[in-house]
Order: sequence, then structure tokens, then C-alpha cells
Amino acid sequence: MNNQRKPVSRHVDVIIIGGGVVGLACAWFLLLEGRSVRIIEQRRIGNGSSFGNSGLITPSMAAPLPGPGVLKKLPRWLLDARSPLHVKPRFDLEFLAWAGRFAGFCNEAAMLHAMRARHALLRSSRELLAELIETERFECDWDTSGLYVVYRSESDMRDGDPMDRRLGDLGIAVRHVAAAELLAAEPALREDVIGARFYAGDARVRPDRLLTEWLSRLIARGLEIAEGCEMQGIVADGDRITHVATSTGSLGADHYVLATGAWSPQLGRLLGLKLPIQAGKGYSLTMRRPEACPRHSLVLKERLVSVTPWASGFRLGGTMEFAGYDSSMNRTRIELILDSARAYLSDPLADPAVEYWYGWRPMTPDGLPLIGRSYRHRNLFVAAGHNMLGVSMSAGTGRLIAELVTRARPHLDPVPYALERFR
Ligand SMILES: Cc1cc2nc3c(=O)[nH]c(=O)nc-3n(C[C@H](O)[C@H](O)[C@H](O)COP(=O)(O)OP(=O)(O)OC[C@H]3O[C@@H](n4cnc5c(N)ncnc54)[C@H](O)[C@@H]3O)c2cc1C
Repeated sequence: MNNQRKPVSRHVDVIIIGGGVVGLACAWFLLLEGRSVRIIEQRRIGNGSSFGNSGLITPSMAAPLPGPGVLKKLPRWLLDARSPLHVKPRFDLEFLAWAGRFAGFCNEAAMLHAMRARHALLRSSRELLAELIETERFECDWDTSGLYVVYRSESDMRDGDPMDRRLGDLGIAVRHVAAAELLAAEPALREDVIGARFYAGDARVRPDRLLTEWLSRLIARGLEIAEGCEMQGIVADGDRITHVATSTGSLGADHYVLATGAWSPQLGRLLGLKLPIQAGKGYSLTMRRPEACPRHSLVLKERLVSVTPWASGFRLGGTMEFAGYDSSMNRTRIELILDSARAYLSDPLADPAVEYWYGWRPMTPDGLPLIGRSYRHRNLFVAAGHNMLGVSMSAGTGRLIAELVTRARPHLDPVPYALERFR
């Protein structure tokens, strides 16, 4: 664990490990608090899961993946080669332990607890992102016209009614839209869709542009970055980290924030922390805008595929593969996404896509991120495990981390996200 190489660079107040959307958000709020910050990134800033995701900002998605009824549906999903969920058969003790924990959270009480905590973070992030993007004039295809969750089956639409009530209890407005109104609002849909739920508070962004814009403003405010710099270990003095050992030398700071998304469990082990995160692999296809391009963001409900139109292009995203850190491009999963889009959209899609991409979503068993101070080192903080919503939860996470580091009063109750729940 300890690496005794000499420090090679100026001491800063905070080192953030990981340059995804969560790392950038932490850097932003720490800089606003007057701290000097350096991000160290093993590859290039913004090239992890934060790059090619769907860019939906969805306070409406308060419900976590584990919930009552999920275990009953699992065998059907797992046996169906065309299901959006795929688990690669393999002997992986960590995955089995994770899956066992996930099963333990598939009940009403755990789901309601996660919904409240996810909603608090999503709502805060939605407000902070809007303020940031608008006041800093980010050019990132920001759009606040809401999200349609579109159905092809009446019974699937009815199945969502109990969730409407739970979301309503959290203050999330849901509107049912009948087929005729939906087709008038979204002529790009096929005429055989039966209706949709509309979430007016949701938004969208082009994630790579968000990151480019955010990084440029961060650098203007004094952020230091070290790319091609992999964290490999730590040097500690009792319960304080004095340096991190990296592929380019040792770096020192007063505080450290681990924001390494799906890579966090391995680094957690170096840090004496249990961070139960599995990579939930998803794909996206980015293409030219079709002739009949949707006007709003869409989720194609039965196939769990998202459709994000921007002025600058058009993206389909989806599937959830638990296959460890598999980095192959699975053509079957890509075909599934294209097929799903053809089942809902009227215009033939512009395939081949301009870009095929995969990312590893950092999935926790309870659907809540891990945000908080380490129980091993008092100057280490973790901001990881944002599941399918890391962009949507980014700004609230960054603000919370800055509050914890500076010992300010947190704007959210930090307890539901604390690391101790998996100790
Ligand atoms: C297909 C798909 C669609 C999605 N759609 C949405 C969506 O619409 N809305 C939404 O909110 N979210 C979406 N997500 C989820 C979202 O992409 C993630 O939750 C989010 O990007 C996680 O951000 P992060 O900063 O934690 O991780 P990442 O962006 O993965 O960043 C972690 C960084 O840490 C670096 N790192 C790792 N190890 C080290 C080390 N040892 N030293 C230094 N650096 C290291 C990595 O290189 C990486 O750059 C989607 C994901 C996928 C795959």
C-alpha cells in the first residue's frame, strides 16, 4: 500500500482522484469555497462513463433499480436474450455478494428510503446544474422541455400507476398523455404507441460538451489537472493520508476525494474501504439527427432505451450488462438498441452511427451513491457509485462533498449516502 516516492508537485488543499462528471462537480464547489484543487486522472478528463451517456437530467427517476417485484421479474429478464438486462455467466464472488445484497434491498421499505434520498440529491442537482449552465453560459445543448416515457402496451402503462403515487408524495409531477396528444407533440413516434407519462421537470444536456465547458471554467478558476496519472497507493501517517502514490510520482494534499466511478472498489481496497460497486455496462449510439427527429427526450419504456435529441445530433442509449470490466463492443446489444428504436420511432435511423460507445455505470446494491468521509482516514472522502444517474446527481454531490470537506452545514442530510452502511 505505501509507496515512499518523494512528492514531486506543489501541495494543494484537495486532490480529487478521477476526472468524470462527479470529480469535476466536486472540484467546482471546492474552488468556490476558496480551496486549491488538483484532479488526477488515469486517462483523459471526461473519458469514463461521463462521456457518451444519454445526458438526461431526471429528477423524476427517484426510484432505484431494486424494488418490490424485481426479483420475480428477474428470471424472465435473464432468460430472454432480448431483455435489456444481461448477466454474463461467470464465477465472481464479488458479484455474487453484490447480487445477494441487491436482493436484500428488493422490498418496499428499502425502496422508499432510497427514493427519498435519491430525490433529495436529484432535486438539488437539477437546480444547481440549471444555475451553473445558465450563469456560466455553457454551450452544451441544455434543454428543459421535459421527458416523455413512452409505452406500447396498456398493461405496462397501468403497472406504473402505484409509482405515480409514490413520486407524487415526493412532489414529482407526472402527467399521463394519451396517444393523440403524444403524437401531436412528438410526430417522430410511430402511430402504434399507446401513450406516455410526461415529466415536466426533467432536462437534458450533451454530456461531453458539459464536461468540456465545465473543465474550461474550472481551469479559469485555477484548477490543476494531471492527466495520464493513475493513483496506485497511499502514504499514510496513522489515520491521515499524507500522499497518494501515482504513476507519475507522489502528490500531497490536506484532503483527498475518491471520485473514480466504477473503478472505485479496487481503489477502495487500497484505502481499507468496502465499496460494493459493480460495473453496469451500457451502450450508446450517436448519429446524425433523423429527418423526423424527436423534439423531447424519450424513454422507450418496454425496452428501457433512451432517446436524446440535440441540436448537434441524436443519441440512443441503453442495456445493462453485468459482465465485470468487459471492454468488448457486443454487437447483439447494439442491435437490440437499434431494434428498440425502430419499434417506437417512425423514421429509419441513420445507421451506421457516427459513434458506438460503452460505459460502466457504477452500480451500488441499494441504488444510492456512496458520498461521505472515510471511516479509515479522516482526510479522505468518497463520491462514487452514482448508478444510472451520475450526471443528474453530479452538482448536488459536488456541493455536499465541499460542505463535508470544509465542515460547513450540509445542504442535504448526508446520512443515507454514508459509507458506513456497507462497512
Ligand atoms: C449508456 C449509459 C447511459 C447513461 N445515461 C445517463 C443519463 O442519461 N443521465 C445520467 O445522469 N447518467 C447516465 N448514465 C450514468 C452516468 O454516465 C454515470 O453515473 C456517471 O458518468 C458516473 O460519473 P463518475 O464521474 O462517477 O465516473 P466516470 O465518468 O467513469 O469517471 C471516473 C474516472 O475515474 C478515473 N479513474 C479510475 N481509476 C483511476 C485511478 N486509479 N487513478 C486516476 N483516475 C482513475 C477514470 O479514468 C474515469 O475517468 C449513463 C451511463 C451509461 C453507461
